[in-house]
Amino acid sequence: MENDIICIGCGSRLQSEDVTKAGYLPASALKKAIEDERADVYCQRCFRLRHYNEIMPVELNNDDFLNLLNSLANKKALIVNVVDLFDFSNSILTSLKRFVGDNDFILVGNKFDLFPKNSRQSRIKDWMRQEANRMGLYPKEVFLISAAKQKYLDELIEYLNKASTDRDVYFVGTTNVGKSTLINAIIDKMGDIKDLITTSRFPGTTLDRIEIPLDNGHFLVDTPGIMTKNQLATYLDAKDLALVSPKKPLKPATYQLLPGNTLFLGGLGRIDYVKGESTSFTVYVPREVYVHRTKLEKADEFYQKHFGEMLTPPKTTKDLPEMKGKEFKTTYKSDLLFGGIGFITVPEGCVVKAYTPGQIGLGIRRALI
Ligand code: GDP
Repeated sequence: MENDIICIGCGSRLQSEDVTKAGYLPASALKKAIEDERADVYCQRCFRLRHYNEIMPVELNNDDFLNLLNSLANKKALIVNVVDLFDFSNSILTSLKRFVGDNDFILVGNKFDLFPKNSRQSRIKDWMRQEANRMGLYPKEVFLISAAKQKYLDELIEYLNKASTDRDVYFVGTTNVGKSTLINAIIDKMGDIKDLITTSRFPGTTLDRIEIPLDNGHFLVDTPGIMTKNQLATYLDAKDLALVSPKKPLKPATYQLLPGNTLFLGGLGRIDYVKGESTSFTVYVPREVYVHRTKLEKADEFYQKHFGEMLTPPKTTKDLPEMKGKEFKTTYKSDLLFGGIGFITVPEGCVVKAYTPGQIGLGIRRALI
């Protein structure tokens, strides 16, 4: 439905075509607003925020995001990049480098609850910092949190409280990192800002973002999530996405392997042991991912035959990029990363070839556990 009605909460043009995009309002409600010539219409997202103190995720493409970031260049702001610890390299926003300028920037690693219980926070933070530095980003602080479980949030909230006394706080992130869950948790914890959320805003002053007023006169600003082609989440349908999004900590499983063995991580990952001694690999993936060991020489055929049936997830997703591999040699005990699914710890001195659909999310780091 074509119209020029703007949501008075976030300034987006109202639309009823895509629930994941900014300005969404169900068709019936939009029709009624047009008929009644109302000037105070909220999109569904702003409505939920006003009435239930609940943020809904929206998506934006990269160009729109860059425009939004441009508006930050001359402002004093704190920028909070929320990242998924299980898909780190695809959820850190390299485009931030150009816009952070003199502003402070912090990294918030979400889904920490999924790390095995004996994980060391300091190691994980060091790794995040190193990766960020490699991309030319220098976070002032690094936090590990669980938005869904509302755990480890106090330190972050205290930091935000202090930092927001003289500037607004912008939350940025790719889709599915848990940014909405985090903001909802913060709203929940900062109980006293709840009443202020209903403060009305002037129409058209913001671009696809939601500003949550703080009682110090500044705002927490939620920006839409950025879609990227490098995330597995972009390709999976909702059912399969749920299968690879665990709620409980990942349980390690150890496999004794010889060169010439292959391990499948459902239909979404594969590792060939190319060269090395007989040794054990430790797999950290959600319980729903079926791990299967087979012979390398039969692996291609096995995948063709059992993809989506024994090798699941995916169970329902139809179109995935073709599996593509990349060779890695471990010069120390390393984690092979399968972004969005999990990781496999491989001992020193092994040559392996790791595969994911279209090489999405492949990477390596010094073993964390
Ligand atoms: P957004 O697109 O960044 O706003 O992400 P959402 O807040 O919609 O969350 C994406 C998915 O991640 C959902 O399935 C959440 O349940 C899940 N999620 C969010 N935070 C956490 C967390 O702390 N731990 C775990 N295990 N899952 C989380």
